[in-house]
Amino acid sequence: MLQRFSKPLIRFRSRAPQLDGPPIERHDKCGFCRSKMAFLLARADYWDLQAVDLVRCQDCGLIQVDPMLTKQSTETGCLALYRFQHQGETERSRKRGLYRAFRRGVAFGVDLKIKGIEPKNVLEIGAGDGAFLKGLQYVFPKATCTCLDVVDEILQALKRQHGFESIHSTVEDIDPTKIGRFDLIVARDILEHVTKPGDAMRTMTEILSPGGYLFFITPNGWQDAWQMFSRWKVDKIKSELLINHVNYFDTISLKKQIDMLGLKICDWFNYDFKTFSRGAGWRLLEQHMARPSIQRSASDVIQKTENLQTAFQTASASPIPVAYTWLIARPLLMAYCWFKHTAFVRVDPTARVGEEIYCLAQKT
Ligand SMILES: [Zn+2]
Repeated sequence: MLQRFSKPLIRFRSRAPQLDGPPIERHDKCGFCRSKMAFLLARADYWDLQAVDLVRCQDCGLIQVDPMLTKQSTETGCLALYRFQHQGETERSRKRGLYRAFRRGVAFGVDLKIKGIEPKNVLEIGAGDGAFLKGLQYVFPKATCTCLDVVDEILQALKRQHGFESIHSTVEDIDPTKIGRFDLIVARDILEHVTKPGDAMRTMTEILSPGGYLFFITPNGWQDAWQMFSRWKVDKIKSELLINHVNYFDTISLKKQIDMLGLKICDWFNYDFKTFSRGAGWRLLEQHMARPSIQRSASDVIQKTENLQTAFQTASASPIPVAYTWLIARPLLMAYCWFKHTAFVRVDPTARVGEEIYCLAQKT
C-alpha cells in the first residue's frame, strides 16, 4: 500500500510550490541542528501575546516559530485556546470525543498485538483526558500506565478516574536518572508543541528500556505550515496563531533525528489526505490560508468565558459503552476498533503530503 501511492506523490511534490522565502538570521537557534541561518516563510501573532516569524532552517529543514514562544505567553495562550475551543461544547460531544480517543487506543493496542509487542510499562506524554491510554489498557489489562503532564489538575483527575500513575513535568524537564524506564512511550501530538524538539526526542529515547518502543504522531509540518506561509506569500500580512504549534516537521529532517538516536523504524508513514486532496500544502487558495491576525486578546477570552473544569469533572455516565466490560465481546470490539481507526492508506513521508506523520520505532 505504502509503495503504490508514494512514488507518484513524491514526483508531484517535487514539482509543486515549495515553502520558500528570503534568507534571514534567526533569533533563536534551530531546535534540531542549532543553525542560525533560515528562510523567512511568514509572520504571525500568537494571540496578542507575542509576534513571531515562521522560519525554515537552511541546514536541516525544520520549520519553527522564531523567537520561540515564552513560557508565560504559552501558558496564557493555552488557557485562552482551551476556553475558546470548548465554548460551544456539550457533554454529549465531549463524550463522543472521549469514546473516539478510547477506540483509537484500542486500535493502536491491537496493532501492537499483531506485531507481537506486549508492553508492560507504558508512559503517555501529555495524556489529556486519558481516554487513549484507557483504550490501550483495555487491550493490555496488566500493563502499568503512567501519565506525564504539566497540569497538576489533569494528573489528579487521571489518577482518580483511571488509577493511572502520574509524573508532573514537561518532556524537556524530565530527569532521566530519576524517572525509571518504560517499554512503550506514547507521544500523540506532543512534539509540535515542545520548545526543544531535539532534546525532547533524546530524553524520550533515553527513558526507553532496551528494546522498548517510541510511538508518536505529529502533524506533517509541510501542510501545517502552509496556512501561514500561503497567507504571507499572497497577502504579505501576518497570520493569527492561536494554537502553540512551534515546530512544523519536515519529514526528511525528522527521520534524520530518529536515525541519529539509533531508533529502528517499525512504522513510518503519513496518513489522512482529505485536505491535501483539496490543495492544502500545494495550492495558494484562501481556504487553506491562516486567518489574518487581529491580535486577539487572550486575557479578554479568558475573562469572558467560564471555567469549564468543574463542568467536565461532574460529567455523569462513562463515555465508554457498557459492552466493553463484557468479556465475551472483547475480540469483536477489538476488531471493530482496529478496522475503524487504523490508517490503511499510507504514504511515504518523503512525499511530504497528508495531515499526520505516524512513527513507531524501537530502541536497539
Ligand atoms: Zn536546523
